[in-house]
Amino acid sequence: MPRQSTSPASTGDLRSQYRTRVAEIHSLGSVLNLLSWDQEVSLPRGGVPARARQRSALATVVHQRLTDPELGRLLDELAGGKHEPFLAADLREMRRQRDRAVKIPSALVAAKSEAESHCHQAWADARRDDTWSVFEPHLARLLDLKRQEAEAVGYETEAYDALLDEYEPGATAAQLATVFSELRRDLTALLAELGPAAPGDGALLSQGFAEDRQQELSRRVLRAVGYDFERGRLDTSLHPFTEGIAPGDVRITTRFHPQELGAGLYASLHEGGHALYEQGLPPEHEGTAVAQAVSVGIHESQSRLWENQVGRSRPFFTYLRPILVELFPDQLGAASEETLYRAANVVRPGAIRIEADEVTYNLHIILRMEMERALLRGDLPVAEVPGVWRERMRDSLGVVVPDDRNGALQDIHWAVGVFGYFPTYTLGNLYSAQFFAAARQALPELDAQIARGDFQPLLAWLRREIHARGSLLLADDLCRQVTGSGVSPAPFLDYLRSKYRALRGDSGGREIRS
Ligand code: ZN
Repeated sequence: MPRQSTSPASTGDLRSQYRTRVAEIHSLGSVLNLLSWDQEVSLPRGGVPARARQRSALATVVHQRLTDPELGRLLDELAGGKHEPFLAADLREMRRQRDRAVKIPSALVAAKSEAESHCHQAWADARRDDTWSVFEPHLARLLDLKRQEAEAVGYETEAYDALLDEYEPGATAAQLATVFSELRRDLTALLAELGPAAPGDGALLSQGFAEDRQQELSRRVLRAVGYDFERGRLDTSLHPFTEGIAPGDVRITTRFHPQELGAGLYASLHEGGHALYEQGLPPEHEGTAVAQAVSVGIHESQSRLWENQVGRSRPFFTYLRPILVELFPDQLGAASEETLYRAANVVRPGAIRIEADEVTYNLHIILRMEMERALLRGDLPVAEVPGVWRERMRDSLGVVVPDDRNGALQDIHWAVGVFGYFPTYTLGNLYSAQFFAAARQALPELDAQIARGDFQPLLAWLRREIHARGSLLLADDLCRQVTGSGVSPAPFLDYLRSKYRALRGDSGGREIRS
């Protein structure tokens, strides 16, 4: 039954009560983010047990605030009213977060949290000693709890959807599986067509590179693309990540490899892309759910866009070469733009996902999604994961996995209870190609702008079309509005085909070493 309209004064009052509560939840959540950042970047070893208690205590408070019946009442009261689009989207988003939190019993939350820490530890031990059997019982236990979570949250078709929804609201496994199977077919064909890379390809970027110079390179590139150091900072950590604490405090980390120049540069650019999104979220809605990234897949599209569509493009090396020559005269002083471009774009199947090139990366993701879906359904016994992993890596990439450390134990996700996250990486790649194609349409001079290091027009376009909208639209609607169609593998495949066919076709280019 439609709710009677309330008087303007009382609606205004409800709104302000609602905003106060939501702002508090967001402030508490941002403190949790700050604690995580600190843990990865600067926490002394001795502080780890206390940090676990601090985070758990604060997470409990956030959960209490989110499930507070008073917030539910405010959401109900406001649900019938007419609101401006950002408030309407904020209500939709808070409703989704709250519904999910309310459905999961606190006993299950506690059991999961405990199982996750044990499982994480077991994974680290298993990985160190290459012993899957150490990890196996913990993973089985955690999977059982994730099934319970999915049942509690509810789903229409399969349990996997309930978990996927946390990262990519509205997406379903069946819909993704259709997109991914087309993608796999065409990627496999492209990989076969391109043939194996020559053993020396990429060697130019695999020399010794001093870390302070690599730092300088990352900072210069980040400044050029528009990352605001007044509202952020760059540190190093074991695994690069971005932490958006507030619009004025968006921190990134990277890591430098003494041998591989691309590792640090592209980690910085990847996280820089995430950070540009966070720094561009609508400041006038700070402290609301609508001023947050719409989905993990859209977030990943921003990192991939800067890392690959921009950072691995031919014009980018026109901009980058003088900087590389200045910072690394001994190693790269004689390298041409073309040689550098080729060295940064070698296609070579390997066992490790995070080291994969643009062509093979998504085949790693598709394998993981299929396996976690089967694990959740109970079709794949945990004990059989390493064997199936090897088999599928051989079939899809022609890669012989030497051990489980380089196989089923390489990623942390399952060990910390994160199931349904992997597909967002591939979604991010697909979205990034769609967005970049749309940006190219809107900005006819894009390549020339990138070549001279003028990234402002592209950033301004991304700000307007994507960042400033926050969670106003769901991911699929955002994609349709910006690109004219829903997520599709076609623009990504077109991009890969034209880029890598040109690179491979003109193999004479490999000799252009100046
Ligand atoms: Zn990312």
